[in-house]
Amino acid sequence: MEKYPVLEVDLKRLRANTKIVTQVCAKSGISVAGIIKGFGGIIEGAFEMAEGGCVQIGSSRIEQLKALKDKGMKTPMLLVRIPMACEIQEVVRYSDMCLVSEKETLVMLDKEAKIQNKKYKAILMYDLGDLREGVFTREELLDLAQFTEYELHNMELEGIGANLSCYGSVAPTTKNLTELSEAAVEIEKKINRKLNIVSGGGTTTLPLLMRGGVPEKINHLRIGEGIANTQDLPLYWDTYIEGLDADTFVLKAQIIEINEKPTHPIGELMVNAFGEHAHYEDRGIRKRAIVALGNQDVGDSSKLVPRDKGIKVLGASSDHTILDIHDSQKSYKLGDIVEFNVLYQAMLFTSLSDFIAKKIIN
Ligand SMILES: *Cc1c(COP(=O)(O)O)cnc(C)c1O
Repeated sequence: MEKYPVLEVDLKRLRANTKIVTQVCAKSGISVAGIIKGFGGIIEGAFEMAEGGCVQIGSSRIEQLKALKDKGMKTPMLLVRIPMACEIQEVVRYSDMCLVSEKETLVMLDKEAKIQNKKYKAILMYDLGDLREGVFTREELLDLAQFTEYELHNMELEGIGANLSCYGSVAPTTKNLTELSEAAVEIEKKINRKLNIVSGGGTTTLPLLMRGGVPEKINHLRIGEGIANTQDLPLYWDTYIEGLDADTFVLKAQIIEINEKPTHPIGELMVNAFGEHAHYEDRGIRKRAIVALGNQDVGDSSKLVPRDKGIKVLGASSDHTILDIHDSQKSYKLGDIVEFNVLYQAMLFTSLSDFIAKKIIN
């Protein structure tokens, strides 16, 4: 018997999406690091990204990069979360480059690279206003770049980069990416050579790229979501890239109860399983189903998109997700399987959950 819930990973679709995105970027002189953290670093997926044209494979978690090295991945590896002091040894061993924003971290990496008899590469992060990682002023960035170039003999200054629309919700624009470009030009003057990488963000820079607004100097993006989870681009960014397939990851769950019940709870309302004051719209008596899947598996059930457009996700506790199936064309029975597309958060959670089977489709 098939085991549920199951997350199906379609490798052909993932590879095709990778090719489309890397080709779109290549037209603007941009190479792509394929970021695997959003799908839990699933090894087969990472290899598809490498074969589909990504020049590096990246993750925020060194453990996921180590797993790839152990499987013989030859594509250079990029750690995209600025490293912790306690993981420097693994970072130097299992990756080839990382994003850095602190001088002391550069010094630690340099020392460890010497011990491991390696040259390790750094991409220095510049905060353009999103207020997550990165040095905050151009002078600081110039100092750090020259320090890396001239004082650290086991480090190579590979380039600079910026991260946007993560903490501060700041959109990549021609204006903020021009600031990054100008900083790159200034560094190149100081060190008398070109930087290999000027990394202008992640998936959320794709909308600007499609509109032709990314400055020429930007030659690198770090993309996970835009390859593995493409429904987010039209949904959140009003951006359509021809040919991208949204069915790379499909989640399937089994129905464990079918019933007709009222839509408004009966009794004195307090808080739900997660301490929230939820809102319940009274839509009368409706047909509904419970699938064996919950927020423990998906993070937030509102990030599930039923593939049957007649189904609505009403909500979930840790282990039960409640679906309104009243308007569906299909007459569901106990034991039937309901399929969902997963938005980024649900892809992240389900790919990492030990309670969700993974099925790799070749
Ligand atoms: C996660 C991450 C990315 C990739 O983000 P996507 O939305 O998956 O494209 C790029 N850069 C950094 C620093 C990240 O942490």
